[in-house]
Order: sequence, then C-alpha cells, then structure tokens
Amino acid sequence: MARKKKHFRTEFRKNRSPRPRQNEWTRRVQTEGTDTHEEMAADERISGKGELTRKRTVTGQETSGDETGFGVLPDVDEASCRRGRVLGVFGLNSTVEAEDGTQFRCATRRLLKTLSTEQRHVVAAGDLVWFRPSGANEGIIERVEPRHGVLSRTSRGRQHLIVTNVDQLVIVASAAEPYLKPNLIDRFLVSAERNRIQPIICINKIDLIDAASLEPLVGVYSRMGYCVLLVSARTGLNVARLRQQLAGRQSVVTGQSGVGKSSLLNAVEPGFDLRVRTVSAESQKGRHTTTTARVLRLANGAYVVDTPGLRQFQLWDIVREEIGGFYRDLRPFVSRCRFPDCTHIHEEHCAVKDAVADGWLDTRRYESYCHLFTGEPE
Ligand code: GDP
Ligand code: ZN
Repeated sequence: MARKKKHFRTEFRKNRSPRPRQNEWTRRVQTEGTDTHEEMAADERISGKGELTRKRTVTGQETSGDETGFGVLPDVDEASCRRGRVLGVFGLNSTVEAEDGTQFRCATRRLLKTLSTEQRHVVAAGDLVWFRPSGANEGIIERVEPRHGVLSRTSRGRQHLIVTNVDQLVIVASAAEPYLKPNLIDRFLVSAERNRIQPIICINKIDLIDAASLEPLVGVYSRMGYCVLLVSARTGLNVARLRQQLAGRQSVVTGQSGVGKSSLLNAVEPGFDLRVRTVSAESQKGRHTTTTARVLRLANGAYVVDTPGLRQFQLWDIVREEIGGFYRDLRPFVSRCRFPDCTHIHEEHCAVKDAVADGWLDTRRYESYCHLFTGEPE
C-alpha cells in the first residue's frame, strides 16, 4: 500500500457554521445522525443562498479507500490523543477501550464523517482508533486505523460494517448432539476464505465419541493447512489450547446453535456468559441499537466478538462461480479445466472431477462443493 504524506482540501458541511445556541451540540448530533444524502442536499440548499464554501486543509496519509473506508488517514496529535479499540457502537457513540483497559464513551470527529466514503457508520466495533479524551470517561475519535478482516453486509448499495479487524474465525462444530455436519464446516470455511480471515476448526463434545473415528476428516482439513482442535467444554479437553489460540487475536466464534459455543467460551473464561448478558443489557439502554456487534476482552488479552447476527454467519455476497476458488483443495485444479467457466458439476474434461476420480481430491469435499454450488439441501 502506497503511503504518501499529503495535504487534503476537504469541504466542511455547512451545518457546521457557528450557531450560538445552547443546544448546538444536541442539534449537531441529531444532524449527524441523518443520512449523508440528506446532509448533502441540505448543503446544496444553503450554498444556493450564497454562503461561502468552508474548506479546510487536512494533513494525513493517503490510503486505498476500499481497505479503510477512508481516503485519508488524518494526522493526530499523539501527545494529546490515546489509542484504543472500539468495543461497540451504540447510535452515535462508541465504547472505546484505551490500552490500559479504561473505557471511554466517544463521539466521532466530524472530519471522519466527511472523509468516509461509503458506509453508514463511520466507526465500527473492532476498529483501532486514536481518540482525544475530553473528560474522565469521554472523548472524540480522531482517526480510524486501516482495517483488515472486515465483516460487513450490503444493503441498498451501501456497506454496513458489522465488525472489523477480525483475525480469526473460530468454527465450532460438535462431534455429536447435534451430529457432525462437515458440509457446514465447509460453508464457514468458504466465508472465512472469502473474507480473508484465518479459520480454525473446533470440534466440541469430543467426550461423546471415540476421537479416532474423526481421524480421516481431521486429516483432510489438516492437509489443507487448517488448524483443527478436538475439544470438550465438559471435560476441559484441549480448552487450554483453544485459550492459547485465542490469545492476542480478535476472534469471531461461529457455528450452529447447540454445538457448545457458549459452553466453550465459559470454559475458556469462567463467567463469560454473564459478561455477555451484562454488556447486552447495557447496550439496550441506548436508544439506537442498530449495530449490535460487541467485542469482549478475555483475561489473556484475547478479544471475542459477540454478535447475535454472526452466530448465523452467512455466505454473504458470494458469487456461485467463485465458490470453487474458496475451496483450498479444489483451487489448484480449477485453472486446469478445459472451459474457463467450468462449474465442475457436469462438464466433460473437468480437472476437478478428474482429480476426484484419481483420488487426489476428497470425495466428500467435492460433494460438499456441489451442494453449495447448486444450493441443494444436504
Ligand atoms: P451454543 O448454542 O453453541 O452456545 O451451545 P451451548 O453452549 O448452549 O451448549 C449446548 C448444549 O451442549 C448444552 O446443553 C451444553 O451443556 C452441551 N455441551 C456443551 N459442550 C459440551 C461438551 O463438550 N460435551 C457435552 N457432552 N455436552 C456439551
Ligand atoms: Zn471443472
């Protein structure tokens, strides 16, 4: 990524012109809550009355817009600002955790809203930010660092960030009760690959079966380079390894309901469930609870994202034709098919099908690909 130091001219929205009223702050907050298009329309109206355009020079680094959502990373005064992580966004405010663990309720600097190109919420859970403390527990977010591992959903052509800087997708399955569904694991793997988030596969309730029976399946995933943990929240088997795997990263835990996600997190950190409930109750107090992702910190410095929506993690925005490329084991063969648009389902001279026939590819994985591609129920 090219980083150039630059000066930027940015236009301020007109509704920022001085308004000597006591409730100006409230009004501003209310205006900021409106849709950008409306604000732009308002600006145009005011311009029509001949008010001067207010411009301001911003110093910062140029970044690629798709990665950050911003074209510019404004410079901040590192002496008076602090670094933090956004744990949740509630309406116009964010809960930001400073590096020493203190939490601040932060508004967002107007400039960031001006620079933000696409998304409805300028700041999202998981964002690493610089903020200027403006009281014991309040502050203003001045800058959002470039993001990675973004989970978002698109609605009406706009990108809605759910959570950013996700390092790891913990795919939880259960060995039994409910019975193991490898195709569902594959689905989650495709989502992880699609979002360029490192997946780990965690097969829970291993106490209910003979672990040796999982060897072939685990072998297939391990050979593709995926980390597979066989765990039991009940007996504590490999819970320490899971805890270690979470440490120092921000993870999203996903999987079918009943596989033991809450039990595992509670085994990793006793009382986790209770904290989720407390934080949920707190965020419900806010009037706007449109963005519900919350980031919770574990004792070992791990961050776990809790979003009710992500528990039913979907294959967002995935074009059917792209699925083959997200199957790590299929990928090397895809380019060798005779037809560049080969679906690997019915074509003659398909390198993927040949690889299955010759035993290079796991038959179950190929069938799981077919199910996902055709959308047939399994
Ligand atoms: P979630 O919906 O994925 O959060 O699943 P829960 O954590 O609520 O667990 C669902 C059920 O599975 C509960 O009755 C748990 O007691 C049970 N369970 C969770 N982990 C294990 C385990 O390792 N072994 C066994 N035998 N049962 C488990
Ligand atoms: Zn093919």
